[in-house]
Amino acid sequence: MPELSRRQLVSGAALAAGAVVLRPTLAAAGPGPTGGAGTVTADVVVVGAGLAGLTAARTLTAAGRSVVVLEARDRVGGRTLNHPLPGGHVADLGGTWIGPTQNAVAALAAELGLATFEQVDVGQAVYYRDGVRTTYPSGGATGGAPPDPTILPDLLAVITLVDEMSKSVPVGAPWTASNAEEWDSQTFDTWLREHTVSPQTRKVASAAFNALFGGEGREISLLYALWYVACAGDEQNPGTFERLIDVQGGAQERRFVDGAQSLSLRMAGALGGRVHLSAPVRKVTQTANGVQVASERLSVTASHAILAVPPTLAARIEFDPPLPTSRDHYTQRSPQGRLIKVEAIYARPFWREAGLSGAVVSDTGPGKICYDVTPADGSLGGLLAFVGGDEARRWGDDHEALKTAVVAQFVTFFGPQAASPSEVVVQDWSDEVWSRGAPVHLLGPGALTQDREAIWAPVGRLHWAGTETATFWHGYMDGAITSGRRAAAEVLGS
Ligand SMILES: Cc1cc2nc3c(=O)[nH]c(=O)nc-3n(C[C@H](O)[C@H](O)[C@H](O)COP(=O)(O)OP(=O)(O)OC[C@H]3O[C@@H](n4cnc5c(N)ncnc54)[C@H](O)[C@@H]3O)c2cc1C
Repeated sequence: MPELSRRQLVSGAALAAGAVVLRPTLAAAGPGPTGGAGTVTADVVVVGAGLAGLTAARTLTAAGRSVVVLEARDRVGGRTLNHPLPGGHVADLGGTWIGPTQNAVAALAAELGLATFEQVDVGQAVYYRDGVRTTYPSGGATGGAPPDPTILPDLLAVITLVDEMSKSVPVGAPWTASNAEEWDSQTFDTWLREHTVSPQTRKVASAAFNALFGGEGREISLLYALWYVACAGDEQNPGTFERLIDVQGGAQERRFVDGAQSLSLRMAGALGGRVHLSAPVRKVTQTANGVQVASERLSVTASHAILAVPPTLAARIEFDPPLPTSRDHYTQRSPQGRLIKVEAIYARPFWREAGLSGAVVSDTGPGKICYDVTPADGSLGGLLAFVGGDEARRWGDDHEALKTAVVAQFVTFFGPQAASPSEVVVQDWSDEVWSRGAPVHLLGPGALTQDREAIWAPVGRLHWAGTETATFWHGYMDGAITSGRRAAAEVLGS
């Protein structure tokens, strides 16, 4: 990873302040699209300017193809979002961390000259159980899990079993696992109840689930959970549950100095006028010779389309001719999780002075998993609470009450200084009409075994991208990037 430099800090401040302006005009450089006002022609039209769509567009442009990107929002980055903080810093309100085996996102960051820094994982973490606060070493022998003797035997057994079972789930075709049908016929919660003794284990597992999936164990199939674990690795390193939840050696190991949205801002900056903002796509028509993609801003005629949007949003577009039944049924079974981030900003990371790492595992909400999200230079402090699943449903209609409740939790966890944040930000991803939930889709029983390849199989000239179509690091920024490359390769190879 490149080192943090003064120059990059300054460029981060510029990005955070929205200094990169994407004009909805066509690019002059390179083989650009052609056509009159309101309708243009290109080799490929990409729907969605998140990491997947922008990576696809970048790959195709590098291969000499003309590309138009249509993005519904007035910004790029989708489920990554920089919130400006004083001093040119940013808070990540969406995707945040990267870690080992996430090779694509690390390589892209290096190419784009984006610096990362280590997530703080020293000092004491807080465990809040039945109204009692205790502490334990962050990054200790139990990783992120609290060393509660009433749950450790259960946790050890369950994690060992999940890691073992996930090894038999092929990352590229989970429905071919020898136990696929049995595992896809039950929820993760059903299985967990059968394999745990202590109700407290299930509460801690639920806290982790809320943050990981924006859901509860009853909302996903056991097969999907095992596949998700199998995907938390690369060709050389099988996925493990520990890599999903750990900081050191896990998916929460590093953050972007300029915020994760800077990946998309930089890619879009280079694509220039090929990216059209505020252009929600409403209709996709396939003919024998090509595709026509109609947005509210302009229409594009192209030989192929890449739809780099979550399945539930793809389902809201009209397709002519209609999509095959298997694809339509798959999108009907692919709801997004429900996840809210609450971030409190302080004059300094005062909890570090008390030897606390900022990490929390709590069996009561609204925030059950918390992290220190202080900017790289530590010049101000940030605490994050994940509010997911049932807690998000409970608090999602009253964000002011949620702010108050989370700050009260921070006081319990970190002391009275937590009562006076300079700012509290609530980002509820289900309220975003162009996300309708996060961080990833929740596949319940049947979805993976019944609809199978519909998850990513092209439909004629339509190709699917987005982290929900990824194999390794499905649900993560890394998966979004590899999905964009895979979709671009499909187009180039067709
Ligand atoms: C709170 C939260 C925390 C997360 N934490 C992490 C983390 O720490 N690490 C990690 O790796 N990942 C994390 N993720 C997940 C990560 O952010 C996503 O996997 C990734 O950003 C998805 O990228 P994408 O391009 O597949 O989809 P998106 O980012 O959703 O992009 C899709 C784009 O399509 C646009 N769109 C939708 N419909 C239309 C339409 N009809 N017409 C035109 N445009 C349309 C949307 O506006 C959007 O810009 C987190 C996500 C959230 C929300």
